[in-house]
Amino acid sequence: MIVLKDITKIYDLGKGSSLTAVHEINLEICRNEFAVLVGRSGSGKTTLLNLAAGLTRPTSGQVCVDGVDLWTLNDQQQSALRNKKIGFVFQFPSLLPALTVYENVLMPASFTAEQRPNEVHERVLAMLDSVGLSQKLDAYPRQLSAGQQQRVVVARALMNRPEIILADEPTSNLDEKTELEIMDLLHDLHVRLGLTILLVTHTTQLVTAEIRKIEMAEGQIVNQSAAAVNA
Ligand code: ADP
Ligand code: MG
Repeated sequence: MIVLKDITKIYDLGKGSSLTAVHEINLEICRNEFAVLVGRSGSGKTTLLNLAAGLTRPTSGQVCVDGVDLWTLNDQQQSALRNKKIGFVFQFPSLLPALTVYENVLMPASFTAEQRPNEVHERVLAMLDSVGLSQKLDAYPRQLSAGQQQRVVVARALMNRPEIILADEPTSNLDEKTELEIMDLLHDLHVRLGLTILLVTHTTQLVTAEIRKIEMAEGQIVNQSAAAVNA
């Protein structure tokens, strides 16, 4: 589903200095896989996730999403592919404070053409229902708990029926119990909707052993657990 081939990302820091954030990584995330990226701060996790999303251009190497080489597309084709295939869950907080829960979840649909208003409306309701927040349509983000807000972010990420969810530390700033709830929710969606998920987390307590764990250090993958199917 996502294939990174020999990916390197070097940031130019100016004055002739540079920093290698990701070094010659090869990684394949299969369809319907739930993978987590772990590693210390500064190890290159966010950079790798942004590379997988096509949000950062690699210095060298290839990024393919569902068989399409992202950097052979023009800007417009690339963002169309992203809108269609990928839902993003960024670090908390990422809701727009002046919009209600309903309006926040509606947002991604406004970037896609040809959607019937009725369908979109039903879809917002369905998405909020799937994260257990049907009661909070008209609330503003500040009126919700941190965990509820992050559920709204998940609902928003699902709005365009993506096949892939990319999440960068979606549970940081949450207490442990809420954190596990969000992980559970993502896992549940992964199972129910067959979503492919790549998630950066610092949580060591993972919901199930079937989750593949990829550990980064200094821009490289240093450890990987294969998904333990029978565990
Ligand atoms: P992580 O998410 O694991 O904390 P990052 O991918 O954010 O790691 O960062 C990896 C390295 O790249 C760090 O040393 C960081 O300072 C550097 N870095 C990240 N983004 C940029 C940028 N836009 N410009 C320059 N250096 C960056
Ligand atoms: Mg990061």
